Amino acid sequence: MSQDISSDVLVIGAGPAGIAAATIAAEQGLKVIVLDDNRQPGGQIWRNLSTAHHPSTSKRHPKQQALDRLYRSGAQLLTRRVVFNASASGFAEALHETATDSNVETFRFQQLILATGARERFLPFPGWTLPGVFGVGGLQALTRAGYPVAGKHIAVTGTGPLLLAVAAHLVAAGATVTTVAEQAPMLKLAPFAASLWRQPAKLVQGARYRTKLRSATYRTGCWVVKAIASPDSHTLSAIHMTDGTRTWTEPCDLLACGYYLVPNTELAQLLGCALRGSFVQTDAHQRTSILGIFCVGEPTGIAGLEAAIMQGKIAGLACAGKSTPKLLRRVMKQQVFAKNLEYAFALRQELRSLPKQDTIVCRCEDVTFAAMQAYHGWTDAKLQTRCGMGPCQGRVCGPAAEFLLGWKPPISMRQPLYPVPLRALSSPLASTSKVAINKIEGIESTKERI
Ligand SMILES: Cc1cc2nc3c(=O)[nH]c(=O)nc-3n(C[C@H](O)[C@H](O)[C@H](O)COP(=O)(O)OP(=O)(O)OC[C@H]3O[C@@H](n4cnc5c(N)ncnc54)[C@H](O)[C@@H]3O)c2cc1C
Repeated sequence: MSQDISSDVLVIGAGPAGIAAATIAAEQGLKVIVLDDNRQPGGQIWRNLSTAHHPSTSKRHPKQQALDRLYRSGAQLLTRRVVFNASASGFAEALHETATDSNVETFRFQQLILATGARERFLPFPGWTLPGVFGVGGLQALTRAGYPVAGKHIAVTGTGPLLLAVAAHLVAAGATVTTVAEQAPMLKLAPFAASLWRQPAKLVQGARYRTKLRSATYRTGCWVVKAIASPDSHTLSAIHMTDGTRTWTEPCDLLACGYYLVPNTELAQLLGCALRGSFVQTDAHQRTSILGIFCVGEPTGIAGLEAAIMQGKIAGLACAGKSTPKLLRRVMKQQVFAKNLEYAFALRQELRSLPKQDTIVCRCEDVTFAAMQAYHGWTDAKLQTRCGMGPCQGRVCGPAAEFLLGWKPPISMRQPLYPVPLRALSSPLASTSKVAINKIEGIESTKERI
């Protein structure tokens, strides 16, 4: 069954940025709908978070405050909607799946705010597909959903501020974090830490994490090169680490490994919005290159929670033709922070030699590094090996191939952005091009093979 729903402003993504944007736009008297693919709003940082009280005060948790204000604003929140298609002519299509049914809904809009967030970057290394190896944010999300880590010995490795945040979270959940290993060298981290004097809240947060992690070893300039399975259980039992000159073994029950974040720009690209580097290009009012389409939060630059919320507010106001200079100035300050983050946690060249010839790079289609190396670019490799054609549609192996092989991802996107049932493409607005249908058939036949 297909439904047609109209709004003045459609917001895609109910993370902190999308919630702020929807709230402010609705408070300006606009009819606002906000869509998210999860069961609950909150995005990554507020995922499955107990919202009763802020840990350090008796105030309500910021997530609860944001949600209360969203509900009061009159904006309509619709969860479990995966937006797989959108057009600058004023519609977006979402797959709505319930326990018993699924249907495609069409949302018509006057203005659109993209708040699609970011995902983790994974770099393949021998053993990264073993049971017991997780993404850093992935393990955090699973733990919040009830995955038991109490009593487990966990190594947290990769890069970015998320390592400390997640390691502290795991300790609070009863795990023993044995090591936090940051690939960035101290030479780059020290100036970044020093620059935080301008952001005292972040300094305090960092200090809190370090206090929680006082029993864990914190190392900079080192990284995991191999995950080892126990011969009996075939699950993770140890990791090999290196600092580039020597390699050693550390036992652990679980490994959380992630290499910073990759912005979710696919929807913006499908709509034809211009990119600046890896991010969606926006002006000071969060306007993209396409009239009536705004972008906020991580797709415009990885700058953290505060920046995401401020950008959301700016876009919400801009939809009503308003702005506040104070907010604009504060966002500019956060952009400096984003640049510093990018420099401090840039991936080191040695990580390019992480995968061996037989290391799987595309997990959906079981494509090895050797198989991919035989080709010159993403499109070639995709056609010959099916890499990037599985259920994740290259969201995991694409950024890995970009770093390891220097392959630029395709600029132009085609719908559907996510696997959807074939009948979703029979909606009158969906462009049922032969290519799109082939893509879906490929996914379905893959599923059968698995
Ligand atoms: C895995 C992960 C864990 C993180 N954990 C922390 C942490 O512990 N502490 C911290 O300070 N920062 C963390 N961050 C960073 C934090 O998410 C950001 O700083 C900030 O909160 C981003 O807000 P946002 O609204 O831009 O994006 P997000 O919070 O990512 O929200 C985007 C929302 O859009 C939805 N969405 C995307 N595409 C579609 C689509 N096509 N259809 C429907 N819905 C869609 C997503 O599911 C998500 O709910 C994490 C980031 C990631 C990726």
